[in-house]
Amino acid sequence: MINHLASEQNWQAQLSDLIVDPAELLQLLDLPVTLLPPALAAAESFGLRVPRVFVSRMQKANPLDPLLLQVLPLHQELTVDSRFSLDPLAERHSNPVTGLLHKYQRRLLLTLTGACAIHCRYCFRRHFPYQDNLPGTQEWPAIRDYIQADPELNEVILSGGDPLSVSNRRFFEWLERLESMPQLTTLRIHTRLPVVLPARMDAALLERLRETRLKIVLVIHCNHAQELDNTVLRVLQACKDHGMVLLNQSVLLKGINSSADELILLSERLFDAGVLPYYLHLLDKVQGAAHFDLSRREALAIYREMMERLPGYLLPRLVRETPEAPFKVPLLPDFGRANCE
Ligand code: SF4
Repeated sequence: MINHLASEQNWQAQLSDLIVDPAELLQLLDLPVTLLPPALAAAESFGLRVPRVFVSRMQKANPLDPLLLQVLPLHQELTVDSRFSLDPLAERHSNPVTGLLHKYQRRLLLTLTGACAIHCRYCFRRHFPYQDNLPGTQEWPAIRDYIQADPELNEVILSGGDPLSVSNRRFFEWLERLESMPQLTTLRIHTRLPVVLPARMDAALLERLRETRLKIVLVIHCNHAQELDNTVLRVLQACKDHGMVLLNQSVLLKGINSSADELILLSERLFDAGVLPYYLHLLDKVQGAAHFDLSRREALAIYREMMERLPGYLLPRLVRETPEAPFKVPLLPDFGRANCE
């Protein structure tokens, strides 16, 4: 057994010891104190939160480190841009029962918790009212009735907040409830924890996920190859050994992974870990994240180069999510009519 998979106590301790003070983060990374006042101002509405193991993969004295830029609050977040909104995917209108989001056919999303081990500055749910959407035991009958009313529903997606940031006891309770519904065949888990706090994939969780009758699809979230150190690779291999299907989704972020070289390296590193690239999302236009945005044209130019240089199985689908569309909308470079004939 791999030691860091051993205990819930270990990851719970790490989760209680996150870096939440911008001053501490700057000091640990030998970064200038001039970054502190804007960081404190931007953290007022969406606090800093980052595990120490994730910080250990950052380069010291580099204010442009691609992992740092995902978590450090910056003054640009305070600029109000009218093209960006508090709820870019209009999720508050797809929320039929507390804790449920139902946007697409045959699958629905359950938000077990609003908590995450990390606060990604570009998160499209950074303003989401989780406090009104956390399902407890008392909500289960309404959730069960809602699922049963639509016999076509066969997949539940646990999403975030990060569903693996809850205790094993709570996670297993929800798993048992979902297992008890014969119409459900698949459980998808959207989580950043195997990457940002790999110890979370403890032995008890892995065993329970191996035993379940549901097919488990673990969709991790990783934006840059530097996030995938050897510990993460070993943990992902353990997930695979326990029968999970592993996919990754990334967000295309200016200054973090906005080049074909970086994204190709990410795909290859994911493949080393047994993970297939699934989606590359265009940024959702959430207020406070405008500085990460790339134009559609820039995104397509990067994607075209990825298409030319990667085998199809390592090419994520470039998509945009919109409130209107009943699926994620794929984007493809225009190759001209001549190429289709
Ligand atoms: S882990 Fe996911 S839900 Fe949590 S802040 Fe990051 S992007 Fe948002």
